[in-house]
Amino acid sequence: MFSIQDLQNKLLSNETSSKKLIEASLTQIEKTKSLNAFISVLSKRALEQAEAADKRRADGKSKGPLDGIPVAIKDNLCLENTLTTAGSKILENFNAPYTATAVQRLEDAGAIIVGKTNMDEFAMGSSSESSFFGAVKNPLDESKVPGGSSGGSAVAVASGCVPAALGSDTGGSIRQPAACTGVVGMKPTYGRVSRYGLIAYASSLDQIGPFGTNVKDCATILSAICGEDSHDNTTSARPCEDFSKKLGEGVQGKVIGIPKEYFAEGLDASCKATIENTLALLEKEGAVLKEISLPHISYAVSSYYIIATAEASSNLSRFDGVRYGYRSPEARKLFDLYAKSRSEGFGKEVQRRILLGSYVLSSGFYDAYYVQAQKVRRLITDDFKKAFESCDVIASPTMPGEPLACGTSSSDPMAMYLSDIYTVSLNLSGLPGITLPCNSGKGIPVGIQWIGKPFEESALLSVAQATEQLVK
Ligand code: GLN
Repeated sequence: MFSIQDLQNKLLSNETSSKKLIEASLTQIEKTKSLNAFISVLSKRALEQAEAADKRRADGKSKGPLDGIPVAIKDNLCLENTLTTAGSKILENFNAPYTATAVQRLEDAGAIIVGKTNMDEFAMGSSSESSFFGAVKNPLDESKVPGGSSGGSAVAVASGCVPAALGSDTGGSIRQPAACTGVVGMKPTYGRVSRYGLIAYASSLDQIGPFGTNVKDCATILSAICGEDSHDNTTSARPCEDFSKKLGEGVQGKVIGIPKEYFAEGLDASCKATIENTLALLEKEGAVLKEISLPHISYAVSSYYIIATAEASSNLSRFDGVRYGYRSPEARKLFDLYAKSRSEGFGKEVQRRILLGSYVLSSGFYDAYYVQAQKVRRLITDDFKKAFESCDVIASPTMPGEPLACGTSSSDPMAMYLSDIYTVSLNLSGLPGITLPCNSGKGIPVGIQWIGKPFEESALLSVAQATEQLVK
């Protein structure tokens, strides 16, 4: 696996060209085709952009660390005039009429998009098995899932096709596949990155973020894509910063909160031991470990699945077979057109969630489920607020154990939902999180998740990088 930094150094020393990097990336995508990480590959476009990047560098006009570097983006991110399917049959032939802000910013920084990556349909899932285009395979162990829903982006990085990629995270979809495939994945604070051009799953939870082979590269990508956007009113007006500014600060004197509820029943013993060993290493470096409590955290998964499905049922009502997307050829009457197009166009998991979401929003159940879930969301957010009064960052597992065995998501969807236990609470509270492997090179990777205070990504990245250096 190459990092952005490695590749940029090679470009600067004229050891390689952007054109060669893109060609190598395309060759690796072809070689690893059986992993099914990509839905479409943009060879021609990417090679043209590489020539332009090489010319810029020759003219002394390089745009910085991302210029001429190959990257991949999840297929729920719009890129003008390219296929954007969200892993669904309903969008099988949809060409995006515009480019997502985060993607545009990456391109403005000179990054070159080589392909659109495979994903759970509409980002609903934790296994990357529910795509209309087939399941994504985990390069480390093909009997295990690569995690989801941004499994294609994680695998594209883990299998050396690209040094970095974008994913989206509604309840863990960047952090979980990163943990399952041994790469670094980050979900920024809600509002840090514009969602304009991201095909919506659950708008109050969705956030775009980077995958990379190391923490610094995630900081580089985040610095490029973040910031206010007039197309997305939920973006924060805070000025964009250089997120690598605190890297190298170390952990001396940093207080690490350890939620007692997270290291209890339900966490695989060897996973727990690996994370505790990592925390002990940090303690030796001068960090202070402090037990904290998040008393309402056990309700996170249930409230998440009520809120996420409620928002999804509303967001996905736009796919009606009329305006764009799949239209059933069988339909004769208007109602049939809606019902048949949606029944034939959406997969099973998406239909399950639309039904669940419509149910919790229906009159008679709205107060009992949706309103109640919103109240729990507030309590969980307050738990974190209180915890952060006495610590700088919070440590947590990313997954309850090894990645699920292939097939579990359809045979036992509940087991899949429960595997979201450590990730969804950050989306409910809008907090930033990053996961990185902490047993590098030793079998299936274990991801440690760091949770930060809102908009304090620089501090979060700094602790993550200190961890990275200790577990190398
Ligand atoms: N596994 C969660 C879900 O299926 C999260 C998915 C995501 O983050 N997009 O809702």
